[in-house]
Amino acid sequence: MKRRSFVGAAAGAGFFLSGCDFSLRDGVLNPCVPELPADLREHPLVQAAWRGIDAGKVWDSHCHAFGDGASGSGLWFNPRLNNIWKPVGYAQKAMYVNASCVDESAGRADQSFVERLLAQCRAMAPGFKVMLFGFDWARDEAGAAMPERSTFHVPDKYVAGLAKSHSAQIEWVASIHPYDPAALDRLDAAAAQGARAIKWLPSAQNIDPADARCDRYFAKLAALKMPLISHAGDERAVHGFGEHLGNPLRLRRPLDAGVKVVIAHCASLGVGEDIDSASGAMLPNFELFARLMDEPGYRSNLLGDIAAVTQGNRMGVLSKLLERPEWHSRLVNGSDYPLPGIVPLIYLKAVVEQKMLDPAALDTLRRLREVNVLLFDFVLKRSLNLNGRGFAPATFETASFFRRPA
Ligand SMILES: [Zn+2]
Repeated sequence: MKRRSFVGAAAGAGFFLSGCDFSLRDGVLNPCVPELPADLREHPLVQAAWRGIDAGKVWDSHCHAFGDGASGSGLWFNPRLNNIWKPVGYAQKAMYVNASCVDESAGRADQSFVERLLAQCRAMAPGFKVMLFGFDWARDEAGAAMPERSTFHVPDKYVAGLAKSHSAQIEWVASIHPYDPAALDRLDAAAAQGARAIKWLPSAQNIDPADARCDRYFAKLAALKMPLISHAGDERAVHGFGEHLGNPLRLRRPLDAGVKVVIAHCASLGVGEDIDSASGAMLPNFELFARLMDEPGYRSNLLGDIAAVTQGNRMGVLSKLLERPEWHSRLVNGSDYPLPGIVPLIYLKAVVEQKMLDPAALDTLRRLREVNVLLFDFVLKRSLNLNGRGFAPATFETASFFRRPA
């Protein structure tokens, strides 16, 4: 289907998106302006965002690859997302297409995604890189791939290849399911090929981080000094196997095994059972994340990523993160690319109303979002300020954490 009609239809279907605090006041579609105009590049807000930051250490630690696989990349989307009568999945995919400014015509989706991503990287300060995630299949208890229960699939080989051919802009993150009988060998291979971390989405991939059968996997991660970036908190977009798998407390098992764990999105959505106590109380997942962050024993191996915390539905945790400067060297920034390009997801005026953003920044940020989603996310997060306090430079200089010691 042609890009215009696909996205146009999705704009209507977007109203059905569930789980999102969906604001239409900034418009719906990203107009995908091609070049960063000089006045934006030189803008004082953009300049200020880079001040005091070593751009060579700024790795955007949470980025998704996207495409339709027509180029032979192996990228795969569950065909149900093409069904306009299933509007939630359909709109979701269409919004990704628009946010990443993909050209769907004549099999160009994979290639145009990469071109657009690279162009945006090159418009950042020199040295900036993105960490692009692979995404393993959902797997059954025996470790067999279950395409019918998977939402999408990004082969490790594909993102590793992109990192190799575009080493100045792209680092890669493998996604290896721990129930795959070949998992340990795959971990070794990923480490040998320069993967910077491993990514899991437990509720979508059917992974229980607290399961003893992951212990050998965790021992291998610890030995390789390979960080595990695990989604925690509700996922909402990609369901499947139960939100309980996203309970941050289930990550005690890899933490206790000495694995470096990055809890994606600081577990900012939903509630989880307090499995530390017999009460079985349901508490906000963010509160459970905070409990882990405050435990002295995890000070050296637990981090949180702040991907998507400016989204309308996650914004409740933003002030809490800004108020905890002692955490900031253990927070790593990621954009969740291409999501910040989905215009209605981040309602900038609400950030202003909650006194975390200067209203004078609004117009510039809106323009940035239309041209460069990576720069938009970076400048927005660098501009956040609550009672004179923003995120520390260390939150953005993430390379030092992900460059594995030899
Ligand atoms: Zn993500």
